[in-house]
Amino acid sequence: MGAVTHPFLRIVRARLGQAVMAAAVLATLCFGLIHALPGDAALRIAAARVGEGRLTPETVARIRAEAGLDRPLIVQYGAWMGRLARGDLGRSPVTRRPVAAELGSHARHTLALGLAGWLLSYAVALPLGLAAGLRPGGRLDRVTQAASVALASTPSFLIGIVLISILALSLRWLPPAGFRTSAHMVLPAATLALGLAANSVRVVRHAVVDVRGAFFVTYAQLRGLPEGAAFRRHGLRHAAVPVVTFMALQTGFVIDGFVVIETLFAYPGIGDLLVRSLLARDVPMAIRNDRLAVTPLKNATPETARDPARRLYGLPPRVRITDLIEEVGPRRDSRGPAALSPAPPRRGSVRPMAWSHMASRRHLLEHACGPPREGCSEFAHDFRPDMTPDDPAVAAALAAWRDALAPESVLSALEASHAYRRGTFPWDGRPLAVLRPRSADEAAACVAVAGAFGAPLHPVARGRSWGLGSRLPPQDAAILDLAGLDRVIALDMARGLARIEPGVTFAALQDRLKREGLAWHLPSFGGPPDASVLANALERGDGAGPGGDRFAALWDLDVALSTGERLRTGSARFGGAQASGATADLAIHPRPAGPTLEGLFSQSGFGVVLAATIALQPTPAFAEAMLFDLGPAPRLGPALAALAGLIRDGVVDPMGAALWDGAKRRASGAGGDGWGLSLALSGPDRGFLAARRRRALRALRPWAVEVLVEGDRDATGRRRETPLTGFSDGANLASLYAGRGRRPGDAGDPDADGCGFVWLCPVAPLEGAAVEALAAAVDAATAAAPVVAALGFQAQSARALHGYVSLAWDRAQPGADAAAMAAHDRLAERLIALGMPPFRRGWAGLAAQPIADPTARAVLARLRAALDPAGALSPGRTL
Ligand SMILES: Cc1cc2nc3c(=O)[nH]c(=O)nc-3n(C[C@H](O)[C@H](O)[C@H](O)COP(=O)(O)OP(=O)(O)OC[C@H]3O[C@@H](n4cnc5c(N)ncnc54)[C@H](O)[C@@H]3O)c2cc1C
Repeated sequence: MGAVTHPFLRIVRARLGQAVMAAAVLATLCFGLIHALPGDAALRIAAARVGEGRLTPETVARIRAEAGLDRPLIVQYGAWMGRLARGDLGRSPVTRRPVAAELGSHARHTLALGLAGWLLSYAVALPLGLAAGLRPGGRLDRVTQAASVALASTPSFLIGIVLISILALSLRWLPPAGFRTSAHMVLPAATLALGLAANSVRVVRHAVVDVRGAFFVTYAQLRGLPEGAAFRRHGLRHAAVPVVTFMALQTGFVIDGFVVIETLFAYPGIGDLLVRSLLARDVPMAIRNDRLAVTPLKNATPETARDPARRLYGLPPRVRITDLIEEVGPRRDSRGPAALSPAPPRRGSVRPMAWSHMASRRHLLEHACGPPREGCSEFAHDFRPDMTPDDPAVAAALAAWRDALAPESVLSALEASHAYRRGTFPWDGRPLAVLRPRSADEAAACVAVAGAFGAPLHPVARGRSWGLGSRLPPQDAAILDLAGLDRVIALDMARGLARIEPGVTFAALQDRLKREGLAWHLPSFGGPPDASVLANALERGDGAGPGGDRFAALWDLDVALSTGERLRTGSARFGGAQASGATADLAIHPRPAGPTLEGLFSQSGFGVVLAATIALQPTPAFAEAMLFDLGPAPRLGPALAALAGLIRDGVVDPMGAALWDGAKRRASGAGGDGWGLSLALSGPDRGFLAARRRRALRALRPWAVEVLVEGDRDATGRRRETPLTGFSDGANLASLYAGRGRRPGDAGDPDADGCGFVWLCPVAPLEGAAVEALAAAVDAATAAAPVVAALGFQAQSARALHGYVSLAWDRAQPGADAAAMAAHDRLAERLIALGMPPFRRGWAGLAAQPIADPTARAVLARLRAALDPAGALSPGRTL
């Protein structure tokens, strides 16, 4: 076969190979065990063939020679395995009939008995389990539970003996044993059925109880469906899932029961034949009976018996995650792993996945809450249980994710808490499941599964992207919650390097650095201290002061691709980080020769970053903050020209300068009414710092109405924990509540608290006229909307500013969502018209700030196709 084979065929081939190996090993074991039995095999065969009374030494000798039992054991084994390999099962030395024919005739009886017993068991278990489950704790439930426990702990031969005693010997209704008419099958089938029903009745009962208590059935009742109709319409199908699985698994127990039941009832099936062959030392029959009939069937369950069950659910065959990862691992053929995807994405479509349920979603929303209307936006953003994703690709991926992770690490869409379903602006992307891996390998497996099945997956590190999308995906997708990957993998306090996982927060890293003596720190920022350092860097976040360009400080990414590959972007491509003279985990040099790959994974969704190295900043001996209050009518032109000069001269680090308007100062609780320009200054000694302060004062004092200076020491000269040395205080988070008119408590959750909040992040020239134009655009776009608009800027260089424009509103106010989003879109358009493109886009900005250049779009699409061929990661994010 050529190199290009469907992966499932390859898996089937591998499984067949394993089956052949297992069969050979089992056959050898059976051969050895049967020959190890005490007594003369030829004697037993002769006795079985001619009868013990007619045995003579000549007969025994003839049968020994005829059956080849006089040859050395190894020769017998070789000859027998050879015949087996040719498919020649030989003849029974006892009956002298071909073994295959003997097996065939007995197998017919066994299959008939098995089917009858299995059907009978469900004829009892289904109605009883359903009735018991509908009235849990009722009399029938208690009786059924007690009876099923008693039956399950009774061996089947005892059940059989009781049935024979009552129904055959006492009442004489049925024949006790043998097989001549169909009546002979009743007692063995009933024995088998009672054993099976003892367990299945409890499975049915639990499935019914679980589903009746499920949120979606309750929800259906809330929508006005009577209890019975809600269960019939929404519950029954769900309850069938564990029952069907169990039915498939039970085939293994059916086979176990044959030997005992057929022997007890002298029923002429495979089990009975096996026992008789063993007694008669009919080696070929015994071995072939056990190996060819019983063992493969038993071995087929439960692993492969689940596959038919999965077919019943409409899922693809079960594949272990390790198989999949091997399959989707490094590309081996020209088509690449994209060929794996059972639901190949449509290229070029805005929504790469064929989400057929999207259409019905609106229909159901209307059904539940009437046509969309103002004030229904909260509901529109809420979770609707009827939308449980049943797309085959998602269902199949979900099954594989459940294989890859611990059970409690996978939440279905239903189980996902509200935290995963709300944002600070109206948004339609919804979690289809939540995956919480506990290690990088588990996370990589989740990503590989997403790629293999074409199931959409969106990574979230800490989920604090308020104003950019919160934890919601750009389009419907399962959420890969990486908060559990929170190790500081390595810390080098000599060189100032940390290798971190995505779950490491600013607060946790700073705490660790403090414990290590704070010789190094991570530049602080205005965002939540419990946000992810790695996610913020991947989003090209801004820290205050030297080293604040977070993405520039990031290298050597460990990236999980949806192709199943793990990519190291750093020196590893030359055989390891040692090449750069550091330990394997902490390369000192960020960019090895060749294209820099890190950029591919920033703001892209092309891969999931599982670890990276981040450069820390030496903690200055002395630092202070200066605030130049520029007043309500600032002279931004000369003030910003002076600032650019200070940056060019190296007096102020570019990332150490920030500009705020009055609304921003008020919203964040910083005090003051007019525009403010703040500087973070540092120096190795007081004299150096004082020189910088003097230069800054000389340049900016003329444009300020007031200047405040705040050092990093308390009255006793001890260092305080301030943002100047890396302690993000989260004070700025108050601005999330600007539209609600109240400040958050300690446990403020803007998503749940109805805070309307959205960011626009334009790049603006560091020039007064540009900032004034931007401010005018904000005023014009938001004038008629019930929003609090605030402006903040962080300098990037003497040329450019990163703008942070926030719009805050009260989502509970009718019509506010729609008006705020309209203002947002107007402003986004206006900023692009002003030549101020975004450096960061949230989900609200994706449509409002499209990528206009067709070549850029085409190249980005090609990069996506190369790195994430199934289009599985954060679909909708890049274009
Ligand atoms: C009031 C306020 C002030 C703020 N001030 C600042 C500021 O001064 N400077 C600044 O930079 N930001 C600021 N922010 C933005 C905010 O802090 C960031 O958006 C925040 O760091 C993101 O939250 P998170 O770390 O929990 O990331 P998440 O919400 O978990 O993720 C953010 C994004 O990164 C992607 N992502 C996460 N992990 C991975 C991964 N492992 N691999 C690939 N992609 C991944 C996600 O898909 C998502 O798109 C501010 C926000 C607020 C609300």
